[in-house]
Amino acid sequence: MKNITILKIGGSLITEKDKDTPTINYPNLKRFAKEVAESYQKEKSPLVFVHGVGSFGHVIVHKTGIHKGLTKESHLIDFAETQRLQNELNVAVVQEFIKNNIPAMPVQASASAVMEKGTIKSMDVKAISGMLDIGLMPTLFGVPAYDSKQGCSILSGDDICVYLAKMLNATRLIHATDVDGVFDSNPKENPNAKIISHITRQNFEEVLKKTTGSSNTDVTGGMKNKIKGLLELVGTTTEIINGNKKGYIKRALLGEVGLGTRIC
Ligand code: ADP
Repeated sequence: MKNITILKIGGSLITEKDKDTPTINYPNLKRFAKEVAESYQKEKSPLVFVHGVGSFGHVIVHKTGIHKGLTKESHLIDFAETQRLQNELNVAVVQEFIKNNIPAMPVQASASAVMEKGTIKSMDVKAISGMLDIGLMPTLFGVPAYDSKQGCSILSGDDICVYLAKMLNATRLIHATDVDGVFDSNPKENPNAKIISHITRQNFEEVLKKTTGSSNTDVTGGMKNKIKGLLELVGTTTEIINGNKKGYIKRALLGEVGLGTRIC
């Protein structure tokens, strides 16, 4: 299959990530569904949608510690409850897309993913590939997943994107988050931070030194982990853009580049 695009929308956009109870950011979610629908109808090219889980995941995981492995009996219930919460968010997301006439098909990555100490070792993508063939939009999300060494670890939306980009030979990977791209220091903490237009072989080490996790509760590594994953990709055009800016997701999906930071 040709010209597969993966769009990731961060938990910082789709939920209110700074809240300590699971809260959906409905104005954003409704706008994203419209923007994706408008480009989806025009482009007609295969699209995989991945969303972060923000306050639906990071808070419970941080509180229970299941990302470090199952170390007590109550962790099994925590594992199951964390997954249930992510599914609850996913149902709301998929519902908005369907309202906008996009055939969003929920795919729970943890149904087939096998992790090893927090790193994904395998995940079945045959069904996802088939869904794309028939015109569905597979919709994945960050999940707690079975880990062969520690029982449980977190398979983040960001890591799912990198894995799928490799396995499906995706042409493009667009990351929408809550800042304009990658900066020379965390823009949420430094108002004078300057945006970096390209991350390349020449500057990536320097950039990684200036990048930290998230300003909100985040157990999956925030911006630093995002960049590390994207640097692994060969042959996939990747860009980090600001999904809070109206129209940016649509424009990126329609092929515009240079809206944020490109990883080359
Ligand atoms: P999402 O939930 O959208 O996937 P994350 O919270 O994981 O996003 O990562 C985005 C956050 O990364 C930003 O809100 C910002 O606080 C943080 N960050 C840390 N360092 C940087 C940097 N150098 N440039 C941009 N953002 C950074």
